Amino acid sequence: MITAHRALKAAGKYVSRGILAAKAALGVRAGRHCTACGRDVVGFFRYGDCADWGCPACQASPRERLVNYLIDGAILTLPAEDGAILHMAPGEASLVTRFRTAVCDYVPADLDPSRYAVAGMHRIDLMDIDERGRFDLFYASHVMEHVPDDAHVLREIFAALNPGGEAWLIVPLWDKPTEDGRPGMSAREREKRFGQWDHVRQYGPDFADRIRAAGFDVEVLRASDQPASEVIRLGLGEMVFRARKPLARG
Ligand SMILES: [Zn+2]
Repeated sequence: MITAHRALKAAGKYVSRGILAAKAALGVRAGRHCTACGRDVVGFFRYGDCADWGCPACQASPRERLVNYLIDGAILTLPAEDGAILHMAPGEASLVTRFRTAVCDYVPADLDPSRYAVAGMHRIDLMDIDERGRFDLFYASHVMEHVPDDAHVLREIFAALNPGGEAWLIVPLWDKPTEDGRPGMSAREREKRFGQWDHVRQYGPDFADRIRAAGFDVEVLRASDQPASEVIRLGLGEMVFRARKPLARG
């Protein structure tokens, strides 16, 4: 669904990318760095309200750069080579490469696999993952705000993980409590209320409580908690909810 709001965002992105390209052509110093592609860049292009959004070289978003930063700094740890990763909605190319390289059992998946040009795509409905104790890492960025019943999906993710396994979840956030959409809410209402027509809820910081309710231990890794100079230089944004399935359930 194309709306005036989205068209405006796209236009802003286009103009901002043009400015960056002109700066690079003029030899402006590449004082920023993209953790997703490893390139030095003159800046990140604007998208919507975020002035430092996309990498001009690889399109990586602030959250994609944050996850790469956390892995590079060993704050987040990838599973061992014999481990398994389930990567939902694998639109972040740098993470597809990292995850695929890290483990022998890499499963890129989506409800509609045809949307992704990633080798070996699987069709998985998060409402019915149908895997038990298979995965060591579950990764989903901006996915949970689309699922009909997030409590159920979180329990499905919990069941699909090995004990000690982790889910790294990123969702769009506001600073108010989570608001679930009403059944039968129109696409137009959802766009107005939650910022996108296919978002069925808007999460707040209490997303962590919902993850805990499924049995996980939760740690929140915020871009804003990283050293300020690095946040700016690397254009980091958003936060990762790191959910760990306990080794033994008491
Ligand atoms: Zn990049």
